[in-house]
Amino acid sequence: AGAMAEPGALALLVPQHGAPSCPHGPALLFVKTGQGKEEGRRFYACSACRDRKDCNFFQWEDEKVSQTRLAAREEYNRSHQPSFTHRQNVERYKNFVQLPLSKRRFCQECQQLLLPAEWEKHSDHQFLRDISTAQLKSPSQLLYPLENKKTNAQYLFADRSCQFLLNLLIDLGFRRVLCVGTPRLHELIQLKASQEDFRVRSLLLDIDFRYSQFYTEDEFCHYNMFNHYFFGGEAAHETCRKFLYEDNGERVIMITDPPFGGLVEALASSFKKLMAMWKETGKEGHNNKEMPVFWIFPYFFESRILDFFPSFNMMDYQVDYDNHALYKHGKTGRRQSPVRIFTNLTPSMIVLPVEEGYRFCTVCQRYVSSGNQHCEICNSCTSKDGRRWKHCDLCKKCVKPSWFHCNNCNCCALQTHSCEKTDAGCFVCGKAGHKRSACPSLSHT
Ligand code: SAH
Ligand code: ZN
Ligand code: ZN
Ligand code: ZN
Ligand code: ZN
Repeated sequence: AGAMAEPGALALLVPQHGAPSCPHGPALLFVKTGQGKEEGRRFYACSACRDRKDCNFFQWEDEKVSQTRLAAREEYNRSHQPSFTHRQNVERYKNFVQLPLSKRRFCQECQQLLLPAEWEKHSDHQFLRDISTAQLKSPSQLLYPLENKKTNAQYLFADRSCQFLLNLLIDLGFRRVLCVGTPRLHELIQLKASQEDFRVRSLLLDIDFRYSQFYTEDEFCHYNMFNHYFFGGEAAHETCRKFLYEDNGERVIMITDPPFGGLVEALASSFKKLMAMWKETGKEGHNNKEMPVFWIFPYFFESRILDFFPSFNMMDYQVDYDNHALYKHGKTGRRQSPVRIFTNLTPSMIVLPVEEGYRFCTVCQRYVSSGNQHCEICNSCTSKDGRRWKHCDLCKKCVKPSWFHCNNCNCCALQTHSCEKTDAGCFVCGKAGHKRSACPSLSHT
């Protein structure tokens, strides 16, 4: 068990016994905390959905659940699985691609490829016609992004960032990419593999089951990254294990871009399990090496990620998205995305594009943003957000350019801050005055 420090927050605990399940797999065990202590009764809630509207599973840890209720719950979980299995969807796809263009329809309401026999049932739904092979190969364009902030938070890479990531992987010599919640990167790899002599392969793990319509069981596993749950059971587990096994010296890297709204702990625990899976496939457990990972996440989570993965470093590269208002820097033209790459690879190997202003700092031995100045006192390139930071002698560290040293608070802050002392800063951005739920850096509009 590990407690988070934020007052009034939820802490995640490790269950002593098997956790009960909702349609999204085993639930997570939570407890309310205040002043670093547990407050109140522990309870189980859905791992995947932070919005009760999406999944209202709830159970007290010490609650007695009757046989009848257990049976009803199992029935509920069964009936809340997708109407087609992955296997069925693969069959349907085979039939779909045989159809002439004029008979290829995609229902926009059900987000489903339609076979002619099903048109009738969807007759009052909006649909797209003449679905081309190119469209089938770009499902992330065909499907609408699930923008529900609290649950799916599907923010798709801008083409520039997606291409950058792929080229970086290739240059680093990787031949297999485990895409955890990165459907667009997976799509780019699959597309290239089908067009040219391209040796990189990928496996997508994602909770968005709509993708099972476009990929085989060797290319996609329905997976929950908050509880490391494979909806496809042991067979899907095995698919993943096989993919991680590096035969012919084909090196594997995992790339993940999870929704960020907390639960770093749950994510870290799942990623450790995936890393352990990789380790088990290697000779002599890969001699204490770690599976290479890119964890794509906002820079203000740096200390949280390093808590769980001390071997990781944050790169200055700013990851851009297509459908994310926050990351499109309207006026300046220059996008200032807060999203970065955290990796356990040697920082000097992560070459960032010079044409976008990144440069190599020979002291830090890594590429940094153009605005990131090497501070002689800190002996490091200290900017986190890409702007030039300034050193404060009193704080003994570099701070944001907009901050000033406040003698009242005895630290640097915005000039407009109010000097009242709060116990702890916001869990997400570290700033005082608001809690995680109200953090301005998480608002997407
Ligand atoms: N930038 C990436 C998409 C990141 S958005 C790209 O362009 O490829 C977050 C992704 O995580 C989405 O694909 C979403 O479906 C997936 N996701 C959200 N919750 C998840 C969960 N509990 N388990 C697994 N995947 C999840
Ligand atoms: Zn659920
Ligand atoms: Zn430096
Ligand atoms: Zn400094
Ligand atoms: Zn200061």
